[in-house]
Amino acid sequence: MTVDQVAGPRETTPRPGHVPVVIVGAGPVGVTAALLLARRGVRTVVLERHHDLYPLPRAVATDDEVRRILQAAGVQEEFAAIARPARGLRLLDARHRVMAEFPRAAQGQHGFPQTSMFDQPELERLLRDALARRPECELRSGVEVVGVEQGADGPVGVTYRDDEGEHFLRADAVLGCDGANSVTRDAIGAVWEDLRFEERWTVIDVRTSLPVRCWEGVDQVCDPSRPATFMRIGEDRYRWEFRLPDAAELDHERLRELIAPWVDLAHGADFEVVRQAQYTFRARIVDRWHRGRVFLLGDAAHLTPPFVGQGLCSGLRDAYNVTWKLARVLQQGATERLLETYESERKPHARHVIRLAVAMGWAMTGGQDGAAAVRRRVLGTACRIPGLAAAAGRDLSPVLAAGPLVRRRVREGGRGLAGRFCPQPWVTVDGRRARLDETLGDSFAVLTAVPLPPSLKAVVDGLGARTVCVVGLGDDNRLVDWLREGRTDAVLLRPDRVVMDVVPSGGHDFTGRPDWASLLHTTRSSFPSQQTVEEALLRSTKR
Ligand SMILES: Cc1cc2nc3c(=O)[nH]c(=O)nc-3n(C[C@H](O)[C@H](O)[C@H](O)COP(=O)(O)OP(=O)(O)OC[C@H]3O[C@@H](n4cnc5c(N)ncnc54)[C@H](O)[C@@H]3O)c2cc1C
Repeated sequence: MTVDQVAGPRETTPRPGHVPVVIVGAGPVGVTAALLLARRGVRTVVLERHHDLYPLPRAVATDDEVRRILQAAGVQEEFAAIARPARGLRLLDARHRVMAEFPRAAQGQHGFPQTSMFDQPELERLLRDALARRPECELRSGVEVVGVEQGADGPVGVTYRDDEGEHFLRADAVLGCDGANSVTRDAIGAVWEDLRFEERWTVIDVRTSLPVRCWEGVDQVCDPSRPATFMRIGEDRYRWEFRLPDAAELDHERLRELIAPWVDLAHGADFEVVRQAQYTFRARIVDRWHRGRVFLLGDAAHLTPPFVGQGLCSGLRDAYNVTWKLARVLQQGATERLLETYESERKPHARHVIRLAVAMGWAMTGGQDGAAAVRRRVLGTACRIPGLAAAAGRDLSPVLAAGPLVRRRVREGGRGLAGRFCPQPWVTVDGRRARLDETLGDSFAVLTAVPLPPSLKAVVDGLGARTVCVVGLGDDNRLVDWLREGRTDAVLLRPDRVVMDVVPSGGHDFTGRPDWASLLHTTRSSFPSQQTVEEALLRSTKR
């Protein structure tokens, strides 16, 4: 066994084989997590079993919240070059008549099309290219992680193998982004909870110049005898997904028959099956998302049937949620309790999304229980109620549940702004036109419609938050209106742009001592101490 020499730039005395963060798996979630940590100055070593990218067809759709995460990871422009906006989702009956249409806006609240189509290997390629440009990140490919061990009260040991033998690294934290068959999951003793969906589907990616009867959106054929999904993913690229009774390879005749509703496939026509693969779609979530400093992200933590295009999206949300917290603990000495909010925030969110996907799967396939026929009839009728389709087409990503880092007032219920992302309009700050997030920096931020009282300003300074007045930002008053509709004078945003706390309209402060103050307290930074923050809070509540 060899011991690798890795020294972080922030370490004054390099320790042999020590890495701040080891990431197991260079899939899209692992690489995005590495990029997000790099932007906070945290060094990572990413260990990946394969030498090259996984080439088979998988994710093709993403939402605007996730595009904002890719923006934070520094790859927004590269992603825009490979993405194509989708106009929505249609539910078709067995005769391909439209039962319902859920439109998706060309500009969602995050500043991007609500749904974008793309090719997962192209996304992974641009993520890897970005990783190669970051000096904080090192990718070791062609290595297999065989052991992850959380020490009693110290670093995590990671053992991996390559052609030369076995190697060992010690890390302050490990992110298990190693997919559905995760070794990290086994290592921390996490087990799957089965959310009761399992079906075998065939996925076919095609390139053709033939005329295809389609729209710029996704079709879900709700036919229990032949459920299918179809979408255009590029200029001449299309994706079909079929649940077939047998797993045999499709011959030309069978394929011609299956795709006949969309395209007439004559022999010798320009029609290239780029890839064909079979997958078992499952709905699962792990019972525990971390043990100590070992965390599970992406498919290692949850499996989502792809019917609402959210599996990867959930994984990228995991990365966005855990990385700022981990950076604050590792670099600024925040309490370990901050890391516990990763599971308490992400688990219910991911479960909600899986349930949506399972419901869609049931609608398409008839499900696997006795009530399936009733459900399909109800769906067909419900979809015709005016306004319902539009409502169902809104964001699939729910509001974060109340918790230490999402303070929701009792009277607000679920209607308040806490736990929601703030919108991202284009704004003009210091004469520069930019997307809002680019002007907020990487840390906390306050958006306010009123001048902050000095006591509140002390709290905000204690967090190192940037304050932005939303009046006159050149955004057609979108942020002013958003605050007004939320009956709020100011909001405190976390580094992941989720509203953590609010100053109610006519109020002057965050009222009372919030739980977040102690979780965010840092011991290694230029920020004022916890005592200073808490004293300021106390003063502000006494006023
Ligand atoms: C047909 C299909 C369609 C889909 N469509 C969508 C969609 O439209 N939208 C969407 O959001 N999601 C979709 N998904 C889901 C999406 O593809 C996955 O959620 C996503 O790929 C998960 O990314 P990940 O990084 O967590 O895991 P993976 O992509 O599985 O990456 C894990 C990585 O870890 C590596 N690894 C594993 N074990 C080890 C080890 N021991 N040592 C070293 N390396 C290791 C693997 O080689 C791999 O590179 C779809 C999935 C399928 C199958």
